[in-house]
Amino acid sequence: MLALVRDEARVRLTDTWPAPTPGPDEVLVRITCAGICGTDLAIADGYAEFTGVLGHEFVGVVETDGPWRGRRVAVGINVGCGACRRCLGPGPEHCARRQVLGIRGRDGGFAEYTAVPARNLHAVPDDVADARAVFAEPLAAALRVAEQIQIRPSLRVAVLGPGRLGSLIAAVLARAGADVTAVGRRESSLAVARRWGLATAAIEDVAGADFDVVVDATGHRDGFARAAAAVRPEGTIVVKSTCGVPAAVDLDSVVVRELRVIGSRCGPMAAALRALHTDGAWRDRLDDLIDARFALADGVAALARAAEPGVRKVLLLP
Ligand SMILES: [Zn+2]
Ligand SMILES: [Zn+2]
Repeated sequence: MLALVRDEARVRLTDTWPAPTPGPDEVLVRITCAGICGTDLAIADGYAEFTGVLGHEFVGVVETDGPWRGRRVAVGINVGCGACRRCLGPGPEHCARRQVLGIRGRDGGFAEYTAVPARNLHAVPDDVADARAVFAEPLAAALRVAEQIQIRPSLRVAVLGPGRLGSLIAAVLARAGADVTAVGRRESSLAVARRWGLATAAIEDVAGADFDVVVDATGHRDGFARAAAAVRPEGTIVVKSTCGVPAAVDLDSVVVRELRVIGSRCGPMAAALRALHTDGAWRDRLDDLIDARFALADGVAALARAAEPGVRKVLLLP
C-alpha cells in the first residue's frame, strides 16, 4: 500500500509498504483524511527516533467485520499494555510499555490503511465532516490544558505560539471563560486569533506582563524562557509542545519565583468529538486553520509545506 514512512533517517513515500494485518482485538481502518502536526515534523527531523508509517491525526472507516464495520472513526493514539497499574487505572497515556501511533513503536495513519485496537476507536458523529473530525486529536490535546489548570473568569492566560496547536488551546481556554491573549512572533501569525475575537500581543511585549498562566506552544527551545518571563510569581507554566532538542531552562527562576510547571500531552478524544458535534463555532474556526490539502502521494511535499513558517494544518487525502 501507499505510505509515508520514516526510515534510515529520512522520510519517503513508498507504494510497497505491507498492508497491516489486524491482531486480536484490532480492526483495519481505511484512512480517509489525515492531518500533519508539529510532532510529525519533529519526528521527520529525528525526534523520538521513530521508524515506520508517520501520522497520528486521522479519520477513517473500519473495514473489519464486527460491531464497528463501516463506521467512521477517530482513534486514540496511545496503545497501552492493558495490564499495568496505569492502563488499569487512569489510562494508557503513561503506560511504560505503550506504543503511540506514528510516534512510538507502531505504524500511524499517513497510509491507505492502519490497524488499531478496537478499544482505541471513537465514533465520529455524522454531522462532523472528515476535514473537521481530523482535528479531534489536537483538539483533545488542547482540552487537556483545560483539565490541568483551574479556569476562572479572572484568570489571565497567555498562549505563546498561535500555530496549529496554540490556536486551538487559546480558543478552548477562552471558551472555558479565561481571559486569553494569543502571543506570536510575527504580526501575520496573530490574524486567526484576532478573527476569533482573542486579544493578541507580540512576544517582545509580554515580558513582565504577569500572566497567571502561560502556555508554551511555540515548539521552540527558547519558549520556556519566554513563558517564564511572562508569568507572574507563583504563576503556572504549561509546557505543551515538544521541540525535539534540549531547551535551556533556568530552574533558579522557577525556585525563586515559585513557579508551577505542568507538562501536557494527549487529551480526551471523546470530549473533543463531543465539542465538534455540539459546538457549531468550531466549524468555522477549524476551516480557518486548514492551509492546504495534499494527496497522500504528494506526502513529502505536504510535510515540506507544513514546515513553512506560519502554515497551520495541512491535510493528507488518500
Ligand atoms: Zn499531533
Ligand atoms: Zn500498561
